[in-house]
Amino acid sequence: MPETEKRINEVFEGLKALVEHGFPKECANCGTIYDSIERFVELTQPVDNDSGLKRQEGADTNIEIVRQCNCGQALTAVCHDRRSNNPMAVKRRDLFEHLLGILIEGGMPRKMAKSEILKVMRGEPSELLTREQLHKFFSG
Ligand SMILES: [Zn+2]
Repeated sequence: MPETEKRINEVFEGLKALVEHGFPKECANCGTIYDSIERFVELTQPVDNDSGLKRQEGADTNIEIVRQCNCGQALTAVCHDRRSNNPMAVKRRDLFEHLLGILIEGGMPRKMAKSEILKVMRGEPSELLTREQLHKFFSG
């Protein structure tokens, strides 16, 4: 498999994994980006003086966290139970940085690469993160 094709596959595999895990998370209201569950908890406020932690119904290993962004927007994050939480968060952050690295190396400006990855993670279409566009970036 040619090198370009390998890198493009890596980007798409990585994006898929990031979408499944849900971090980094962006506040839809003010655009603040929380790159991990730790930062999310650190930088947001509890809602109603409670820790914001609650178990999802029917799923005993997932915990839903409801917190309030500085702008007042309520944000919900889902994470696995505490035992697996930290390594997972580190992995996600590393993966995000790794993908960013591939795109930047391929010639995409950092800011653009970051916003395109976040777009995909929010489930929005990205005009740049398509096989056709990446081929142009990586071979040009
Ligand atoms: Zn906000």
